[in-house]
Amino acid sequence: MNYQNTLEFAQQQDQLDPLAAIRKQFAIPKQTDGKDEIYLCGNSLGLQPRLAAEYVKRELEQWATHGVKGHFEGDFPWMPYHEFLSQGFAELVGAKKEEVVAMNSLTANLHFMMVSFYRPTKTRHKILIEEHAFPSDHYAVESQILFHGFDPKQSMLLVKPRAGEETIRNQDLLDLIEQEGDSIALILMPGVQYYTGQVFDMQAITQAGHEKGAMVGFDLAHAAGNIPMQLHDWQADFACWCSYKYLNSGPGSVAGCFVHEKHHKADLPRFAGWWGHDKATRFKMENSFKPIQSTEAWQLSNPPVLSLAAIRGSLDTIKMAGGIHALRKKALKLSGFLRFLLDTNLSAEVELLTPEDSRYSGSQISIAINQKGDDSERGKQIFDRIEAMGVTGDWRYPNVIRVAPVPQYNSYQDVYHFVQILAQAIKQH
Ligand SMILES: *Cc1c(COP(=O)(O)O)cnc(C)c1O
Repeated sequence: MNYQNTLEFAQQQDQLDPLAAIRKQFAIPKQTDGKDEIYLCGNSLGLQPRLAAEYVKRELEQWATHGVKGHFEGDFPWMPYHEFLSQGFAELVGAKKEEVVAMNSLTANLHFMMVSFYRPTKTRHKILIEEHAFPSDHYAVESQILFHGFDPKQSMLLVKPRAGEETIRNQDLLDLIEQEGDSIALILMPGVQYYTGQVFDMQAITQAGHEKGAMVGFDLAHAAGNIPMQLHDWQADFACWCSYKYLNSGPGSVAGCFVHEKHHKADLPRFAGWWGHDKATRFKMENSFKPIQSTEAWQLSNPPVLSLAAIRGSLDTIKMAGGIHALRKKALKLSGFLRFLLDTNLSAEVELLTPEDSRYSGSQISIAINQKGDDSERGKQIFDRIEAMGVTGDWRYPNVIRVAPVPQYNSYQDVYHFVQILAQAIKQH
């Protein structure tokens, strides 16, 4: 696509954008002067869809009107409420309906998945994870290794970028799996890296892991709702994601989980709860656990329906926008425009950590502000300045601003104004 470095071009693209109307489905935070914020933080907390608010309100009313009978009454009874989300989740991650479920939170699900899929032996006891994994993932992996009586120093295999590089080369990762594979019990990688925005080749990683006899799972916190995936075809063993980033379902909302159908009938260790028990006999309240023959078997509790209602609102909004492939199409143009503008206006001032190849990047672009002298606070001052000028992004020390123009509610004008504001802030510091 041929981009132009003008506001007119951005306005024209917004007029031509088939998804422009979807923005009206969202509550956009306002600046003090009443103008919309330039909200580029959907990778951290997605904005509120109108439908999420409507569906939550509807369940509050259902509760007020029907009390306990709300479990069985109305169009969306609470008892099977999680099932209303399965189709939407399945399309996002490329799975069968039976392979996905909404339950718990992300880190909790990582633990529950490791209970089933991390079964270390004396010779095969390692978990392969990135050195700079999100801390919660690191803690979860480390504590699982300790829980099984192994030593994280020996059993945590960390993959990192080469010296002087920001992202992990796919081939380096595959080579490591090839070399160490016989001792790897589990590979746990992100779909999209939270700091750099790098997209990993999940298909190749899964294949390489399986060839070596390892289990392969993914943390899709930054991938779900951002990039299309085909978890079923790729044969991934499991995956977990939160729903409050690109899935716009509200702070701390219920997470998603995928287990490939090949494991549904397997006799895996599992921490069980009543919501995973066969639906037909769940309320007989008997003591022999009979797992549902789907990923629902990993459910523990009856889920928080108000939170599921928000997810349902978000998934319906995604459907309204034409689904994940339509979103990705616009996302590529938006991030392409952002790269073009940064390149044209600020190439001497910033470095982009996110891979340029669109196969290896999603909506997020991680912008490193070049150091000037030894002023270690300069980047943060620039970030504070752009925030004061109406931009919401995300700051990471020492010098990185992460922004994600997301296709559901961001416009080409958001992207244009952001780069103008950033250029101005950089000039002033
Ligand atoms: C956002 C995020 C988390 C957060 O975990 P919660 O359990 O939802 O608090 C964990 N891991 C990754 C990779 C994330 O991006």
